Amino acid sequence: MALKIYNTLSKTKEEFKPLEDNKVRFYYCGPTVYKTQHIGGLRGNFNADSIRRSLTYLNYKVNFVSNYTDVGHLTGDNIGDADTGEDRMEISARLEMKTPKEIADVAIEDYERDTKELNLLFPTTRCRATDYIQEMVDMIQILLDKNFAYQTNLAIYFDVSKAKDYTRLSGQKMEEQIGGAGTGDTTDTEKRNPADFALWFFKKGKHENALQTWSSPWGEGFPGWHIECSAMSKKHLGDTMDIHMGGKEHISIHHTNEIAQSESANGVNFVNYWVHNEHLVVDNKKMSKSIGNVVMLKDIKEKGFDPLALRYFFLQAHYRSGQNFTWEALDSAQKGLINLYEQVASLGNKVGETNKEYKNKFTEKIEDDFNTPQALAVVSELLKSDLPNENKLATILDFDKVLGLNLSKAKEKIPQEISIEELSPEIQNLIKERQTARDNKDYQKSDELRASIIDKGYEVKDTPEGQKVFKKLTADS
Ligand SMILES: [Zn+2]
Repeated sequence: MALKIYNTLSKTKEEFKPLEDNKVRFYYCGPTVYKTQHIGGLRGNFNADSIRRSLTYLNYKVNFVSNYTDVGHLTGDNIGDADTGEDRMEISARLEMKTPKEIADVAIEDYERDTKELNLLFPTTRCRATDYIQEMVDMIQILLDKNFAYQTNLAIYFDVSKAKDYTRLSGQKMEEQIGGAGTGDTTDTEKRNPADFALWFFKKGKHENALQTWSSPWGEGFPGWHIECSAMSKKHLGDTMDIHMGGKEHISIHHTNEIAQSESANGVNFVNYWVHNEHLVVDNKKMSKSIGNVVMLKDIKEKGFDPLALRYFFLQAHYRSGQNFTWEALDSAQKGLINLYEQVASLGNKVGETNKEYKNKFTEKIEDDFNTPQALAVVSELLKSDLPNENKLATILDFDKVLGLNLSKAKEKIPQEISIEELSPEIQNLIKERQTARDNKDYQKSDELRASIIDKGYEVKDTPEGQKVFKKLTADS
């Protein structure tokens, strides 16, 4: 058996061969911290965590670096529409009448809380772009010295015509590359090619009032978004790394530009395996403020769900497949997770030996481009097997190093029955009304009342002895 990873560059699954023995140098393009991440963004982070955990499980020593972008990511960057570009940090800062640093601090705090609740492991190194301005300046200087970059009155640009095989990651033809791809003021008449992208913006023109600027050998200004990842990954992982990961929207612009910069500056191959995750949609629609379907982790908790139910939901789809979030799907994920906790809890306390046959099966799925949905199927198979309970327990706890579902705490995670007298008068009333509805065979009303009870963080079960109420699984249970 050997680990295979789908490489965007070759569009095939390739056998993984690390640069150095059993070590992995892994960079993940982290969030731009101008607002709290929604669950779509969190799914990308979960996918990276899942791959990192899998690599560790496969006995690699993983140096996992992830960044916070807190300057230079313009609104037009992802779509290559540079004319509309404004720094996302500054838009939020102006709207909320705060400094960009205050905006970033809040978004980072939210992000670290949310990722912790989803049981994502903290990166080996977490780097914040504004702490690496000197490294970016150094790299831009190399690009200028080697003639890959040029300076105009408004910015320093990377000259894409000089990059070797510039569009090889996306496979697009140069003509298909959107005009003005990357950043830069396309009204800059001194710009040589529309696809040239900015490495450094001067505090001039439309950026005259930029809130975050630094001095540089060429003048006051701020870095472009793409150079940040090139400079930070070089600092922590060296000129060449094993794995670079991010959302698939980064293929044609952000990662294409990172390759151009890093390889031109360093003169060696930048990344051996390019990994891209697909997106999450909500009710089959892209999440957007205008549709009003943006879901945050706090919304999930407010409805009484355990953040780990979302983790369990994420585990059910492969990272290269899209996933459709609905509240019904989350509800079944939570039920599935509770069921798993109940089964694990029923195995007792004695931890025996990890079963080799099931470990091999599980490993095979993980080694097949990190196939967590199939790894979950091995978990079910194991639980149904006739292995002794203590060995089942040992094996499933071993799998949990990848799954991250806190299965060692299964007993505490099982919802506890609450006697109706202990509930608040409001809930007690709902229970009484529901009993009346059931007595009158008004099942529609009964279902509506159940939904209200669930909304308050409880679960109701109908048993021969009447309704029983359980505390829904939540973060602190
Ligand atoms: Zn990046």
